[in-house]
Amino acid sequence: MTKYNEITCKTACHKIDGFLPYEWDLNIYRGCGHHCKYCFALYSHKYMNSVNFFDEIFVKTNIAESLEKQLSSKNWKREVINLGGVTDSYQPAEEKYKLMPEILKVLIKYKTPVTISTKSKLILRDYDLIDELSKVASVNIACTITTINETVRELIEPNTSLSSERFEVLKEFSKTNASTGVHMMPVIPYLTDTYQNLDGLFMNAQKCGACYVITDILNLRGQTRKVFFEFIKNKLPHLYGKISALYRNYFVDKEFRMQFKEKSKQLRIKYPLKNKRKIFVNQELEHLPQQLSFF
Ligand code: SF4
Repeated sequence: MTKYNEITCKTACHKIDGFLPYEWDLNIYRGCGHHCKYCFALYSHKYMNSVNFFDEIFVKTNIAESLEKQLSSKNWKREVINLGGVTDSYQPAEEKYKLMPEILKVLIKYKTPVTISTKSKLILRDYDLIDELSKVASVNIACTITTINETVRELIEPNTSLSSERFEVLKEFSKTNASTGVHMMPVIPYLTDTYQNLDGLFMNAQKCGACYVITDILNLRGQTRKVFFEFIKNKLPHLYGKISALYRNYFVDKEFRMQFKEKSKQLRIKYPLKNKRKIFVNQELEHLPQQLSFF
């Protein structure tokens, strides 16, 4: 049973440093109910353990008012905000709290560009607001999609929408002024890196009118390593030896990375995309910290 803790925040957006396609980050929730077995965000919440990261969610209930304060300042330069750089803005808590519509209204009022990435079809609830925002500011909508196999998805991302539903989300948003993309990450060695899976993902990305695809192989920082390998030992023990041999530290083995890069290059040629994204996004983010590249 998920426990929700309502809190208030002083500042809605936080400045991000580094080579990224956005300047600010806004997270409504601390913790995430999607329960992904490879969750990259665990290490960014060192003060929480993995059990309460997934089951005890902190909700910044005043975030829309706080955002309005920031955006109405004469110092605000209308730089790009990444909505949900750490945890998914459309995670299950959002069904209950409905904070995104209020945030989108503020963004429309101040014509502020955004990028939103999610694993949930709940984003369709706010379709009209996102459509309206895309008419006054640049908007990028991305879905993180790791597999076309729904059994594998259910295993590794139990509380998310079906992969097919996420492709439908992108298809719908491709009808707006927003650019759309697939965040194909993390690619999990020996589980989601098969040619068949990657081919299916690229093919669907093209079919749903995505402008770009970003790929990244699983990184295992901090607690993520422990949680991920516990999952593998329990649910897919035959893969434990093979996967752990590839992870002497938190990055995957170099040779594996090079082979994957080649596969990905061939699929980009096979399935060319529109490439008209509104907000610049790197296509290969393999060397960036995963918490920043996910969204
Ligand atoms: S959606 Fe992102 S933050 Fe949420 S559990 Fe999955 S990986 Fe973690």
